[in-house]
Parts: sequence; structure tokens; C-alpha cells
Amino acid sequence: MKDGKCPKCGSKQIFSSEDLVLKGGPFGSNSIPVSLTSMAALDNYVCADCGLVESYVADQDKLKEIPKKWKPIGVDADSEA
Ligand SMILES: [Zn+2]
Repeated sequence: MKDGKCPKCGSKQIFSSEDLVLKGGPFGSNSIPVSLTSMAALDNYVCADCGLVESYVADQDKLKEIPKKWKPIGVDADSEA
């Protein structure tokens, strides 16, 4: 979806909240909890044709924090560098 194409309907009417001021949203509503004291704001991508939303962690530092705090479910989980 980040490439500007909707994976559901194939539309190219994709819009991003990447540059939005205060994208964490009121009361962190556009954020996910990383740990007890840490919230990660999200970049949302919306297809203006079918309404599909994709969310990505906006802050690279928060993204690095997640493998340390969250439970791994993937097969490669044991081979963390
Ligand atoms: Zn779509």
C-alpha cells in the first residue's frame, strides 16, 4: 500500500497521514502501546475508493523497541541478532 496502490481493489487513490501534525491522535488514539511507558504513533494509509486502512509504526526508534518488548510469533523469532 505504501507504493500507492490498494492491495484490495487495485485503486491508486491512496492517501497517507505521514505528515500529519500530532499523528499520535488525541489521547494516543492513533498509537499502539509498546510497553508500559511507551506509545508508538501510527502512519495510516487509506484507500479513498474502498476505505481500506493500513497502519505502520511511524517512529523507527519505537519500531526497534517492539522486538524487545513484545512476544515473537514468527518462525525466525529465535534467531534474533
Ligand atoms: Zn481500495
